[in-house]
Amino acid sequence: IPEQYQPASNLLEGKTILVTGAGDGIGRAAAESYAAHGATIILVGRTVAKLEAVYDAIEAASGAQPAIFPLDLASATEQQCQELAEALEQNFGQLDGLLHNASVLGERRPIESASYKAWQEVMQVNVNSQFLLTRYLLPLLQQAASASIIFTSSGVGRRGKAYWGAYAVSKFATEGFMQVLASELENTSKVRVNTINPGATNTAMRRAAYPAETPTDNPTPAEIMPLYLYLMGEDSAGVTGQAFNAQG
Ligand code: NDP
Repeated sequence: IPEQYQPASNLLEGKTILVTGAGDGIGRAAAESYAAHGATIILVGRTVAKLEAVYDAIEAASGAQPAIFPLDLASATEQQCQELAEALEQNFGQLDGLLHNASVLGERRPIESASYKAWQEVMQVNVNSQFLLTRYLLPLLQQAASASIIFTSSGVGRRGKAYWGAYAVSKFATEGFMQVLASELENTSKVRVNTINPGATNTAMRRAAYPAETPTDNPTPAEIMPLYLYLMGEDSAGVTGQAFNAQG
């Protein structure tokens, strides 16, 4: 990403972009920021009231009318993902961007005492649902003249750390998924695939993971948007298979 990246105000005009976990935290900021740069946003998440609030905020800011697709990624089925793809096909004919953002933190405890149920839920939401969505949305992304898939990683997805358990492992899986997909697509398609590690950001997840921190010491989700915009827009055309950090 260029130093001091300045996205054009119409960077994402005409693009349809799906954001998972769009109701809160970084996903909400990305949905609003993408809309402010001209995109039509598909808001995916599990808490409809939160998605509606983001919908209203985008409309109030004069963004293109978004769409809401409620989906609990802990229980998402192939059929639901197929239905989502069909709805997008009918309404837009293509998909220009996919931000895999939703995740759960799961348990913070040693492997020795970790619960299998909690492990499975984290892998389901953070990894398996990303496969399902990607699997069924890829044909629509291939329809676009140029498309971007962004996965969300973490510092512990690049270097494991004690007590981060399934969450860290799920983020390593995310990095691996990105590499496999980017490699499959790099010569034959106009779909680029990268990961972002947001770095410490003031959200509910961060506050839960670090209760002793002063939340306002970390940047807000809005402050880390330059990289999210860069990778979603055409300024990053041709950039694929890379792991990025939103904060230096
Ligand atoms: P938040 O917890 O604030 O937001 C997570 C979003 O994901 C929420 O909108 C939540 O929905 C949604 N979500 C969670 N579970 C499901 C589910 N089963 N189905 C559908 N949606 C779901 O987290 P952040 O904004 O902090 O995190 C965003 C991403 O950034 C995550 O991938 C996280 O791992 C990553 N990250 C964050 C860091 C940070 O410091 N904040 C640091 C490193 C990585 P709902 O609101 O309805 O629960």
